[in-house]
Amino acid sequence: MKAAVLDQFNHPLNVREMADPEPGLGEVIVRTRAAGICRTDLKIIEGAIRTVETPRILGHELAGEVVALGPGARGFKEGARVSVGLDITCGTCDYCRRGELDHCANLLRLGLERDGSLADYVRVPAANLIGIPPAVTFAQAATVPDAIGSPYHAVLNRAGVRAGQIVAVYGLGGLGLSAVQLAVVAGARVIAIARTKERRALAIELGATWSIDPNDGEVSEQIRDLTDGLGVHAFIDLVGIDGSADQGVLSSRKGGKVVVVGYLVPRLTAGMMRLVYDEVAIIGSRSSTRGELLEAMALVAQGRVQPVIGAELELDDVNEGLDRLRTGTVIGRAVVNFA
Ligand SMILES: [Zn+2]
Ligand SMILES: [Zn+2]
Repeated sequence: MKAAVLDQFNHPLNVREMADPEPGLGEVIVRTRAAGICRTDLKIIEGAIRTVETPRILGHELAGEVVALGPGARGFKEGARVSVGLDITCGTCDYCRRGELDHCANLLRLGLERDGSLADYVRVPAANLIGIPPAVTFAQAATVPDAIGSPYHAVLNRAGVRAGQIVAVYGLGGLGLSAVQLAVVAGARVIAIARTKERRALAIELGATWSIDPNDGEVSEQIRDLTDGLGVHAFIDLVGIDGSADQGVLSSRKGGKVVVVGYLVPRLTAGMMRLVYDEVAIIGSRSSTRGELLEAMALVAQGRVQPVIGAELELDDVNEGLDRLRTGTVIGRAVVNFA
């Protein structure tokens, strides 16, 4: 089969022949029809994620068809249209035993610690499959595991956004544009924050009430102006740049939550006093649970969350697609389509 392989860190991916995978116990083979690429792939290529070893087939966002079932693989038949949760859990560690699958101590992730979706075929546990409803295309479904699932976890679970609240979303990339829509679905009003005018305009189209350009002045001051000086109930930080989480703390109302999803520059200098006096919480958010992916897929099928696909390409052009992510010229998700 053809696959995009990271053979060496800080080098382009090699699109080359690899052996077809065989399904193990409880596993299936999915024929890839669409695979998303994102900034996490750039971090992997740069060697910033230490658990990734080479050679590795990248790609952690997948939609396709089940073409083979290994022994004991149940729940889906050959030909089923499926998306795939990227967290592969051990089932036996202390976290897994408590049902906290997303905290698994022996976590292996598709396209990171295991070969991923930028390939004609992918080997995955049957337990990770999510059915794709007829109304959802493969390209749309490929955005669910990360670009919609991760903000779903951040907005609805970690921030616990409720109707009537005000939510700031900092960073309007693939995840951010989903975060805006998910907060709106939850009944919140959204302040969308980004430097690019087109991204802010799109966020408004997708339901945000206000938008802010960080170049127009301190984000927290702009947010306080919009919220009668009170601040926001939740601040979703998807950029993870120097000072972004600090702006979150300064933008939060009493009892507010800063949920950190992006982590390019993992440093925090916010004063502890704010955390105590105003009971502001800083919370990390990673990936999503399998149940959340089912819920996210349902919202897409109902048309209540629209996957924003900013670029569609073929596997041979994957490095070009990654370059476009690097320069920030893709608005929304970049998806690699397979015939
Ligand atoms: Zn991703
Ligand atoms: Zn485990």
